[in-house]
Amino acid sequence: MKPRQHVVLGWQLALCFTLLVGLCALAIGLYVANARQHVGANYTALVADVVRAQQHSSLLRSELLAVSAPTWNPDAERFENMLWRTRQHLQGVTHGLTHSQLDPQYYRTPLARLQEAYDSLPELEARIDEAMVNRSHEAMLELGLALENDLAWAYSELNEYIHQAAAEQRILMERLTLAIGILVLLVLLVVGGLMLALLRLNRQRSRLAELSRVDTLTGLHNRRHLLEEADKLYRISLRDTRPLSLVLIDLDHFKRINDSYGHPVGDRLLQALSQALREETREVDVVARLGGEEFCILMPDTPAPGAMEAAERVRARVQTLPLEQPRVTEPVTVSLGLATGAAHEAAFDRLYSRADRALYAAKAKGRNRTEIG
Ligand code: GH3
Ligand code: MG
Ligand code: MG
Repeated sequence: MKPRQHVVLGWQLALCFTLLVGLCALAIGLYVANARQHVGANYTALVADVVRAQQHSSLLRSELLAVSAPTWNPDAERFENMLWRTRQHLQGVTHGLTHSQLDPQYYRTPLARLQEAYDSLPELEARIDEAMVNRSHEAMLELGLALENDLAWAYSELNEYIHQAAAEQRILMERLTLAIGILVLLVLLVVGGLMLALLRLNRQRSRLAELSRVDTLTGLHNRRHLLEEADKLYRISLRDTRPLSLVLIDLDHFKRINDSYGHPVGDRLLQALSQALREETREVDVVARLGGEEFCILMPDTPAPGAMEAAERVRARVQTLPLEQPRVTEPVTVSLGLATGAAHEAAFDRLYSRADRALYAAKAKGRNRTEIG
């Protein structure tokens, strides 16, 4: 796949993911808005109120039925207490319902029935009082059982309805959890993708920066790298008063080689020379191709005699380089200009000029030699 296609595909994927995340968030928003009555609702408390009221209602029924038993012992206070509690339960359930987020259209009928029962409580109280006095309980029983029937029916309707709402709430929570999980996963994927893209971009940038300091033909460092390194090394050498040596190297009569055997042969010679320079120098030395057939070695912590030894080693090694041409006996040679940093020199340029002048002198004196500047 071409790099451009990669980029387009990357953008399309990023767009798809972003759209998906947006859609997911929108769906969650719509769903929650639609089922907002269930969000944060506490149905458990409401169900508990209704169940307690139901239990009390059945107690009231037993109490009323006990009236017809021959052993009935009238107890006005007990009835009064029961009706007071019935009232409390009715008020509690009504308050809970009207203050819940449940839709009133679903509990309107049972609530109306509860209200009717509440309204008829004073009459039941009156009939109970009468029954206590004249011990005739038919009227009280008739009204009491009718009232209890209403309560039982309304409470059971409400119970069923609230349970249904609680079940819907559970489903809502399950779906929301799933949707939020998917959303988080998508967001993580988007973030992960972005991090990967950034990482790749960073790697490409470092690679580009590295390439901008390397000579493509020989793989050696180029002039830009040399100048950057030279500045650093020169300052260190001044600070530590350690010698810094620079050797400039120029192939002799390279134009003639190119003209005689062709440019590709010249290129291969440049590569062979680069390899030889790598092999003849230390790790700490900076070897660079300055351009054309000009090279240099920057040697930190090296006095002039040591640098001279290295330069001569290079010069001898170059003469052994093969030209890869049959019947060519003439050796390849280089001229070298050497300069060693002195404490009074304030800049690398001065060191370079001295080495350059020395190289010029080596050329003038007949080539294939090292001169000190
Ligand atoms: P001198 O001994 O005085 O240095 O002579 P010279 O021929 O080496 O120097 P001159 O500056 O006259 O010629 C340098 C030649 O190097 C000319 C140019 O074509 C060649 N050259 C520069 N860069 C490259 C390259 O990348 N590959 C090849 N094959 N030749 C190159
Ligand atoms: Mg030259
Ligand atoms: Mg040359």
